[in-house]
Amino acid sequence: MGSQEVSSTVDWQGKHVTVAGLGVSGIPAARALHERGALVTVVNDGDDERARAQAAELEALGITVRLGDGATLPPSTELVVTAPGWQPDKPLFLAAAEAGVPVWGDVELAWRLRGDNGRKPAPWLAVTGTNGKTTTVRMLASILEAAGLRTAAVGNIGVSLLDAVLGETEYDVLAVELSSYQLHWAPSLRAHSAAVLNLAPDHLDWHGSMAAYAADKGRVYEGNTVACVYNAADPATEDLVREADVEEGCRAIGFTLGAPGPSQLGVVDGILVDRAFVANRQKQAQELAEVSDVNPPAPHNIANALAAAALARAFGVEPAAVRDGLRAFRPDPHRIEHVADIDEVAYVDDSKATNTHATEASLAAYDSIVWIAGGLAKGATFDELVTGAAKRLRGVVLIGSDRALIREALTRHAPEVPVVDLDRTDTGAMSEAVARAAELARPGDTVLLAPACASMDMFTNYNKRGEAFADAVRARADESA
Ligand code: ADP
Repeated sequence: MGSQEVSSTVDWQGKHVTVAGLGVSGIPAARALHERGALVTVVNDGDDERARAQAAELEALGITVRLGDGATLPPSTELVVTAPGWQPDKPLFLAAAEAGVPVWGDVELAWRLRGDNGRKPAPWLAVTGTNGKTTTVRMLASILEAAGLRTAAVGNIGVSLLDAVLGETEYDVLAVELSSYQLHWAPSLRAHSAAVLNLAPDHLDWHGSMAAYAADKGRVYEGNTVACVYNAADPATEDLVREADVEEGCRAIGFTLGAPGPSQLGVVDGILVDRAFVANRQKQAQELAEVSDVNPPAPHNIANALAAAALARAFGVEPAAVRDGLRAFRPDPHRIEHVADIDEVAYVDDSKATNTHATEASLAAYDSIVWIAGGLAKGATFDELVTGAAKRLRGVVLIGSDRALIREALTRHAPEVPVVDLDRTDTGAMSEAVARAAELARPGDTVLLAPACASMDMFTNYNKRGEAFADAVRARADESA
């Protein structure tokens, strides 16, 4: 199957396809391929009760399922469709490479199947980056909606890509969030325009190296037709644009929190301005929105808004719709979410800040902070983060199993900042953390949960961690009311 073919040119009838991984992407993929006449075998490492129930449903349709062995490639396989999270060095993929069998991820499959239901395929505006993807894609969808376009935020969030391309709803354009894993397995994806928001070390165990991680992110620019949007403050993203093979006439468009140069979007006197999609970019700039239209107007979020605006403008959206879409946008929970003000102290939940890069952005958004941090460090180091924020820290409350790593960085780089080290990981720990943070805070301060760590040592996920924080804050607010 050549890389430029779409499904309508692929005859699925009788084709032997191996779907790697039961789960959110595997099950719909297996069904879609089976419906098209492919002979589908699903292979899965796990063999628990849930997998057996899922297998039974697929088997009832006539799909073969092999549980407890995701390593061996069924001999007649002509194509592997994999769950994006499966690590590229798995024996299954080595066997596929040896046999010359192509491997597609969920995004590749959706890309190839688009238009398969007889509809004109909607162009994709794609967003990737280490942090800010979900926020930016939701902002973009909000702007596109404000422009009267039929759209959805899809991919790593919301509607699955396969549902979006094969479902009943017709779209004019899709706002697509793509992870580095998904891009790794999407060799022929060609977006209308795409943005890489930023690039910081993450998931390196999966990709093998920073270079491999960057290269996978950079795939999002391959074959773009109108704009490759990069972050002017993050030269690595611009490098990826330079290395990409794009359609003739496709432009590199930067976004910056400063005044924009030609072919950039940026900020002038509290106004988001476009100096890229205007008639004369040497002399002219177009007002799009005010910084206060961005919710919340923290610096990194203004960057997200500019990236979303750049993609929308690349698609031909009018300035007024950018403003209306940004105004209508509501952030997802646990992303710099203002919970309450108590005794002139703001309490902010950024539980989604699960790595140091995200936390750095979050800490940069406030002047005087009591920082609640800690959890599972995932191999991260905290020296840079602490050095950058030291001057703005009123105090720190540490929770979770890897808190010693943050404490040591604080001792090295901010020895004057008071630190409360909570030696407990039970469910009541968060309410004690909030109480101790409240003791440290002064009027005008922000108590910020931005853990820089994963949550699984204490909570099921970052949502639960954020909820525990918000519950504790609201309980205090009720007491003081
Ligand atoms: P993703 O989908 O990439 O995980 P989200 O939009 O869910 O991104 O935001 C995750 C966290 O990353 C937020 O809680 C916030 O702290 C941080 N963040 C959001 N946008 C940016 C950005 N542009 N740069 C750095 N950090 C960011």
